[in-house]
Amino acid sequence: MKKSIKVLCCLLAICMVASFVFCLTACNKSPVKNLIYIIGDGMGFNHVENAKLYMEKDKLAIENYYAGEVITHAADNEVTDSAAAATALATGVKTNIDFVGINPNGKKLTNIMELSKSRGKRTAIVTTDTLDGATPAGFSAHAESRDDTTDIIKSQATGKVDLLIGKWSSAYAYSNKKYFDNNGFAYTESVDELKNLQSGKIVGNIQNVDSAYNPYTEDAVPLKTLVEYALDYLTKDNKKGFTLMVEGAYIDKHSHEQDIMQMIYAFMDLNDTIDYILDWASKRDDTAIIFTADHETCGLQKAENKDALSDSLYTADYHTSANVPLYLYNITTDVALMDNTDVYKLAKQVVRN
Ligand SMILES: [Zn+2]
Repeated sequence: MKKSIKVLCCLLAICMVASFVFCLTACNKSPVKNLIYIIGDGMGFNHVENAKLYMEKDKLAIENYYAGEVITHAADNEVTDSAAAATALATGVKTNIDFVGINPNGKKLTNIMELSKSRGKRTAIVTTDTLDGATPAGFSAHAESRDDTTDIIKSQATGKVDLLIGKWSSAYAYSNKKYFDNNGFAYTESVDELKNLQSGKIVGNIQNVDSAYNPYTEDAVPLKTLVEYALDYLTKDNKKGFTLMVEGAYIDKHSHEQDIMQMIYAFMDLNDTIDYILDWASKRDDTAIIFTADHETCGLQKAENKDALSDSLYTADYHTSANVPLYLYNITTDVALMDNTDVYKLAKQVVRN
């Protein structure tokens, strides 16, 4: 009798210890509350493959997180532009070419940054493009056309993104700077100055952001440098989480020029940034990453080998309707082929945490 009570006590103790250990590992797991949404503008599968040939790499770190393909068409056209595609990725709604953050009937759509802000999160956009470019605009503004620069700037200055870093186009600067001044933004043109700005609303105009691999540029500020700063800014004294959109714009721009080497340099700059982000995210358990493209640009074919990389691999003179790759870190999905509006749904899941 005594012996069986001892055994029972022993079992009970083991159970208590086991459940305590389980709770330490499982119950303390913090929810995924940070979203890093990375857009390789114009990046089709072969942009990645050709860059890998040049880099002589069989597999990039991000490829460990390959999740499937994304369908990119706009509401009114099989081949999208960046404005309609960014709107789909940022709001989950298909719209017409040229439209920024509005549906085909002109109604304003809630974007992922606005949703994040309503959840108390901090928000940022870092791009190698001008801030009024179609992709950053689709994530931060509402306008009838991507060319309505002043409307886009006013929308961003009164919008829900705390930190905006990119180049300023001549239209953006400087007559429109007043909209940011009037809405409490600190403004800077230098990375050193940026690093001294730790909080509040900030708009950065960094003109020499470029790939460090570009042999024709001196003193280039790589995208990674700006993202390092953004992650510090976003996590300082912040328990609610953040949403960061990062865009590598020049994969698209150099593909439009049908300049494969410059496209590859731009891709390598984005890939360095992603390696940094993956390393950063791996040291914590609260961050999800979505990496995709808004569309494919200029029908790029894959070279046979490194020596065969040439501008003639481009087979179209504009974007195409080819599907683009999707990579997901800390987000799971069973769907291997999805619409760009479904990518938004994955983003929304994280923002809701
Ligand atoms: Zn684009």
